[in-house]
Amino acid sequence: MPKTLVPDFVFDKFSDVTAEFLKEHNIKAILSDVDNTLSPYEHDVPNDEVRAWVKNLQDSGIKIALVSNNNYERLDKYNAEMGLVAYADAGKPSRKCYFKAASDLGVDIADCAVLGDQLLTDCWSARRVKIPCIIVPPIKDKRDLFHRFKRAVEVPFMYIYKKRNKK
Ligand SMILES: [Mg+2]
Repeated sequence: MPKTLVPDFVFDKFSDVTAEFLKEHNIKAILSDVDNTLSPYEHDVPNDEVRAWVKNLQDSGIKIALVSNNNYERLDKYNAEMGLVAYADAGKPSRKCYFKAASDLGVDIADCAVLGDQLLTDCWSARRVKIPCIIVPPIKDKRDLFHRFKRAVEVPFMYIYKKRNKK
């Protein structure tokens, strides 16, 4: 079984990823997915919890950028108030937008971590860039056949993660 897509860390939700945790692991910046990681597809704008989490990280000196495979229309509206470094149409698992985002944030890519809900895009990108990957379960899963297939592919990797991290 290839272990390349086993995430480094798994949390119940984005807000469990705290500045303390990130500092403990020498992570200075988060390159975060949007859809199903921070908000469900149908939320045009971040809710209070997302905004509070972002502000809290920033106040603690952690930088954050949004890297999404969704389009600019979606991301511009979502990011309008927060004004974060943000790349849409990222083409994950392409590495390009991660390097751009790190450079825009003024941090070394090696000091970043990826946050996302999908192993095949978010975790794979992190592997390719050789930075840690933090996975949260999707807020609201799309249940069409394509997405069900993608989730099924993820099962063995999540199994390895759980086995490794069993107390
Ligand atoms: Mg996502």
